[in-house]
Amino acid sequence: MGLELARSQSPVRLHIRCENCLRESSRLLEPPPGAELPDDPCALAEEGYLDNLPFFCGHCEGVIGRLFAISGGKRYG
Ligand SMILES: [Zn+2]
Repeated sequence: MGLELARSQSPVRLHIRCENCLRESSRLLEPPPGAELPDDPCALAEEGYLDNLPFFCGHCEGVIGRLFAISGGKRYG
């Protein structure tokens, strides 16, 4: 919490809602070496970071999750 790592490779926290039980969970997405993660869900998807992203709901064991928000990652300004 409260990490100040401006311009360094900071992981993005993905907020995911289970398609089955609709509970929210989050997980960290670590940037690949030498790359920065966009802080926009659409950009993340377009760049392929969300492909093959494993999801496992700890509540209902569902495996289908829908990303609804992200936090962290590259900062602008
Ligand atoms: Zn679930």
